[in-house]
Amino acid sequence: MAYDPDNIFAKILRDELPSMRVYEDDTTLAFMDMMPQAKGHTLVIPKEAAVDLHELSNVAAADLIVKVQMIASAVKQAFSADGITIFQLNGAAAGQTVPHIHFHIVPGSLLGAKGHAAAQGDSDEIAADAELIRAALHNLHK
Ligand code: 5GP
Repeated sequence: MAYDPDNIFAKILRDELPSMRVYEDDTTLAFMDMMPQAKGHTLVIPKEAAVDLHELSNVAAADLIVKVQMIASAVKQAFSADGITIFQLNGAAAGQTVPHIHFHIVPGSLLGAKGHAAAQGDSDEIAADAELIRAALHNLHK
């Protein structure tokens, strides 16, 4: 599938759409999911233009998983989560709704969580959650 440079996450990367960013570096952006399946639901995306894991370069894939590991640690700490769910959907047939590869990080289990991309969350609550994750990332880097 050809990469659509006007997909939602490409627009977020270019700051053409707002997002609640918790982490950014030269290769990666992490921001809050606006339809969270659970409190603290965070998305991690590479800046490389790729629809899914199959299209991502080896270099970007290796970098991305290290960033996912780091942000998952911060999310775990921020929400005092005993467990963390990490998932990544490839292709509409697998349920992927935004065609720019991303990892989902969700505190706890998806069992009993809200539906996938089902309902807008409370933006004040998500903003407060983003702040907790930023603080946890700051602590990790101390
Ligand atoms: P996918 O279905 O592609 O694996 O996941 C896409 C995710 O992006 C969903 O969890 C959905 O809630 C989230 N999402 C969709 N549109 C937006 C948006 O405009 N902003 C943010 N922050 N998240 C979005």
